[in-house]
Amino acid sequence: MPRLPARLFTLDGWPSQCAVCRAWPAHTVCTDCITRFAPVRARCPSCALPVAPGVMRCGACLLQPPPLDHCLTATGYEWPWAGLIARLKFQQDIGLAGALAGLLRRVPGAADALAQADWLLPMPLAPRRLAERGFNPALLLARRLHPKRCLVDGLRRVRDTPPQRGLTRAERLRNVRGAFAVHGPRAAALHGRHVVLIDDVMTTGASLHEAARTLRAAGVAHITALTVARTAPPD
Ligand SMILES: [Zn+2]
Ligand SMILES: [Zn+2]
Repeated sequence: MPRLPARLFTLDGWPSQCAVCRAWPAHTVCTDCITRFAPVRARCPSCALPVAPGVMRCGACLLQPPPLDHCLTATGYEWPWAGLIARLKFQQDIGLAGALAGLLRRVPGAADALAQADWLLPMPLAPRRLAERGFNPALLLARRLHPKRCLVDGLRRVRDTPPQRGLTRAERLRNVRGAFAVHGPRAAALHGRHVVLIDDVMTTGASLHEAARTLRAAGVAHITALTVARTAPPD
């Protein structure tokens, strides 16, 4: 896998070198790289996994509809996006949030979902994880998308769960059960509303589904998930 160039910019939106191909001048990620490495492809509207063109919904979602009304992702969890997401999350390269939010905006269906959303809810991090990282990448993305409709504390993590990495789908589901709660003072603002849950990566969807179940139980009317990258389905 080719290495990404080292950090080349400090402020998002300033002309600089593309973080992928080093073209100059460019935005954080140049238009050519976005077109080339994040091509729009047919995805299941319920789980965002790729489907053959013309297929409306994947077989798994037809059999067992997920708790999300709509599930959108910009790209597969692959080069160069996986590296850029890791740089945002682990190297605090927060200038990348604007570029990744730009990627979210161009997902087919995202403009409508964002226009119709009463609130954007960043997927909350466990307090310990937040303390380690110092920031929530999902919140940075949500703020870039719609600062005024970003409800920072609408959804809370009430239970610290072990990392999902390396767990099977069944283990992930068990791991996140009861992990979220609607923040009491925000309950009235969420009741009957349309929300978009924002996150960087969707793996099995266990966390997003648990968040959606929690929101639904609190009376949220319509829930869309919008993520930068979706991992490939397990073999
Ligand atoms: Zn480029
Ligand atoms: Zn599906």
